[in-house]
Amino acid sequence: RREETIESEIIGSLVDPRTEKLFLVYQPIIDTRSKKTVGFEALARLKTDAFGYVSPTEFIEITERRHLINRLGEWIFQSSLLFLKQLEYEGYEGMKISVNISGVQLMDSSFRSKIMDRIISSRINPKNVNLEVTESVLFDNYEFVNKTLRMLRDDGITISLDDFGTGYSSFARLRELNIDCIKLDKTFINNIGEVMDENLLSGDIISLSHRLGLKVVAEGVENLGQVMYLEKKNCDMLQGYYFSKPLLIDDAIQFLRKQQ
Ligand code: C2E
Ligand code: MG
Ligand code: MG
Repeated sequence: RREETIESEIIGSLVDPRTEKLFLVYQPIIDTRSKKTVGFEALARLKTDAFGYVSPTEFIEITERRHLINRLGEWIFQSSLLFLKQLEYEGYEGMKISVNISGVQLMDSSFRSKIMDRIISSRINPKNVNLEVTESVLFDNYEFVNKTLRMLRDDGITISLDDFGTGYSSFARLRELNIDCIKLDKTFINNIGEVMDENLLSGDIISLSHRLGLKVVAEGVENLGQVMYLEKKNCDMLQGYYFSKPLLIDDAIQFLRKQQ
């Protein structure tokens, strides 16, 4: 019953966005060297009448099971592009927007053309669009998904592998994957400062990724000790509560203003 209620509240708010049950928040992604914001990750939020806030992990999975994810995903993508346009309008050019993409969306054969149509009609530079995909998707339908990713990259979009290190990641596979960046999962960041530096894997993962030509974003950075370690290990970008939690549009713009 919970699932049905959540589903119908999502449908309701897709039909009439004025309900404002469904919305996006944006978490800054920081360049490690300059400490400047280089982009934002869009994260979906759902506030239901019945249960209050429902976590995205729960409601995204429900929409996948109930064949709603393509519609929801399109709404999320379009709203993210609008946010990027607003940033441009406010004078922040060259910011990048990162959008999480469900595996189900990637299996849709019209995914790439839908994405590109929206980017073109919004007059956005595809270089400023990054898609985050998780490992599980890639390993289930490797050939098909990897081909789609290659085409998206040919169009100028960049791809990040989300939650790196939690799934079946292998460096052998990483070499042939059509991605630009890995997002080092929070579990690898958590133990920084708790164990001796030489026992940490994150530094090694960063240098191996660099050898494969990939950029690295650290997820879930919460304290200065972690920032300093990641800096020393040349991690390219940082994201986490230490810099900012995910923000509503106005707060995100305010965050950029303060930084200037
Ligand atoms: P993710 O893409 O790995 O997103 C990072 C999660 O870590 C977010 O949780 C974010 O709020 C949280 N986080 C960021 N910094 C910190 C920190 O310093 N400490 C801690 N403890 N957590 C931090 P959130 O927003 O609950 O999202 C969870 C997952 O739900 C996401 O993981 C993503 O897989 C999925 N998701 C969220 N929005 C979307 C969406 O629009 N589409 C799809 N397909 N999936 C989404
Ligand atoms: Mg993500
Ligand atoms: Mg992640």
